[in-house]
Amino acid sequence: MASGSAMRSSYRSDRQSSSAPSSSTSRNVGPPPHISVRSRVPSSRRSVTPTSRARASDDNDPEPGRVRVAVRLRPRNAEDLVSDADFGDFVELQPEMKRLKLRKNNWSSDSYRFDEVFTESASQKRIYEVVAKPVVESVLNGYNGTVMAYGQTGTGKTYTLGKLGKHDASERGIMVRALEDIIANISPASDSVEISYLQLYMESVQDLLAPEKINIPIVEDPKSGEVSVPGAAVVRMQNLDHFLELLQIGEANRHAANTKLNTESSRSHAILMVNVRRSSPEKEDNDFSFLGKESRSVSPAGHGMPTVRKSKLLIVDLAGSERLDKSGSEGHMAEEAKFINLSLTSLGKCINALAENSPHIPTRDSKLTRLLRDSFGGSARTSLIITVGPSSRHHAETTSTMMFGQRAMKVVNMVKLKEEFDYESFCRKLENQVDHLNAEIDRQQKSRENDQIAMDKKLGECRNSFAEAEKSLAARSEELNRQKDHNSLMHDEVERLEMTLKHSKQHQLEDSTYQKVLAETTQMYEKKIGELMKQLEYERARSESAEEQLDVMKKLLSDQQKLMQDDQMGSSTYQKALADTTQMYEKKIAELIQQLEDEHALYEGSEEQLVLARKILGDGQLVVQA
Ligand code: ADP
Ligand code: MG
Repeated sequence: MASGSAMRSSYRSDRQSSSAPSSSTSRNVGPPPHISVRSRVPSSRRSVTPTSRARASDDNDPEPGRVRVAVRLRPRNAEDLVSDADFGDFVELQPEMKRLKLRKNNWSSDSYRFDEVFTESASQKRIYEVVAKPVVESVLNGYNGTVMAYGQTGTGKTYTLGKLGKHDASERGIMVRALEDIIANISPASDSVEISYLQLYMESVQDLLAPEKINIPIVEDPKSGEVSVPGAAVVRMQNLDHFLELLQIGEANRHAANTKLNTESSRSHAILMVNVRRSSPEKEDNDFSFLGKESRSVSPAGHGMPTVRKSKLLIVDLAGSERLDKSGSEGHMAEEAKFINLSLTSLGKCINALAENSPHIPTRDSKLTRLLRDSFGGSARTSLIITVGPSSRHHAETTSTMMFGQRAMKVVNMVKLKEEFDYESFCRKLENQVDHLNAEIDRQQKSRENDQIAMDKKLGECRNSFAEAEKSLAARSEELNRQKDHNSLMHDEVERLEMTLKHSKQHQLEDSTYQKVLAETTQMYEKKIGELMKQLEYERARSESAEEQLDVMKKLLSDQQKLMQDDQMGSSTYQKALADTTQMYEKKIAELIQQLEDEHALYEGSEEQLVLARKILGDGQLVVQA
């Protein structure tokens, strides 16, 4: 519960208008009808609709945060039927006017107005829909919520809240239905539901899910004011069957603990704590682009930080509200008796103080008020169901319950969204991002190294091909130089050839002159040779005729010689004439021989001249051909 000063600010200015019940039959107390707990058409759909989300922020609620109080009348039981047989109805309900009347006597009654009035025939489902569902929806939307039952023992608190409805689902109480709704509306991947189930007896917090745990301390966060019981077992809820199992275990443990302590469950408070953790849906509309897509989400301030809503639902089945003096009748020592209901007394005092706008709210006086600090005068959305029996035998208790309910209706809480930056998930996302970036850096470095290797390889290749190019260039220039030399050589050769050609032309010219001369000479010589041949023929003919004359002379001489031989005996004159004639012929023969020899020498000289001329002619022709 908040401090008095904090609470004052949350009160409406008109909150003092309702007052304690009057003895007048017509006077209504409590808030005007338009602020009643919403009675909605029961729906089988379990999802939280956008409308219900809007409602959770109480846009149209003139009294957002005021504790809603409904009253439920238990059907008559056998006992009631016997004891009230002679009396008329003690409790009169006017549900359409949300009014309950307690008859004082035949002519007067006290009238009380509540946010909702349920008759004995109201179904468990309707009770849930009207009393608890708006709170459950708030919890799903990130607000703390409390549903609490207050009333005398035996009036139906446990029936209303904790009924398991194992054999008949329509009998299921608020706890089961609330968990059913919560489980159906969360996303198992990102959200979680955890429960603890506690019993508070004689200022000792005991764990109904782990009965060995007793005297569990209550811890308050000095900053947020959040109250928690960290020592208690926390069970993460998987499904409704799992929850039903746990509730059953809790019930069994509650029964066992009470037997051991020699008490009754009506003297202890049972508190079901449901912690709902929901991650905000992520959106793209933020500036955290540097964080990458997966790091973005939406926050209440729209800064794109991931947020988480951690809300808590308390379902509180209080101890019986019957008066303390009745405890004594159960055999407890006075001190014990005081202790047993210290928490309940404290709660009443706190609610009174809150209702009266007191500067001091004795929250710290008991464990129950510490545990319910957020439910009354805090930031939770709270619904209270008060249960009454129909019998006039319990007139005092019923009246006391009415008064408690009336005062609770005046308590206004400041509902507050339990949303915070989800540093855990943000850190996780950042870590993921860092991992991702590191991996990316590694990848890039590796690729750079690979690039470097490839570049080095390419550079080596380039160098090699450059060296080769250089080499081939050198070879080429050498070749060019050679070609140049060759060209100049060729040039010289051409010049030389040109010169030779020129010379040759000159020679040719000279040769033609020479040939001409040679031809003329040859012609001359041939002519001369012809003449000589002719002369030689002539000389040969003359020589032949001289030989023939010689042969004739020789024959004549021989004939003469013969004749002389014949005449020898005759005459010496003859001899002398003969000797003269012989001498003359011999002289003539000598002359002819001489002449023949001369002719012969001349012939040989001509022949030599002809050979020489032929040789000269042959040489001249060879030179021309070359
Ligand atoms: P409390 O927890 O307030 O002491 P219980 O929930 O144990 O009271 O109810 C006492 C008895 O009355 C139980 O047997 C319960 O089944 C019965 N009872 C209570 N309320 C109703 C109801 N609305 N309809 C039928 N039976 C009821
Ligand atoms: Mg009970």
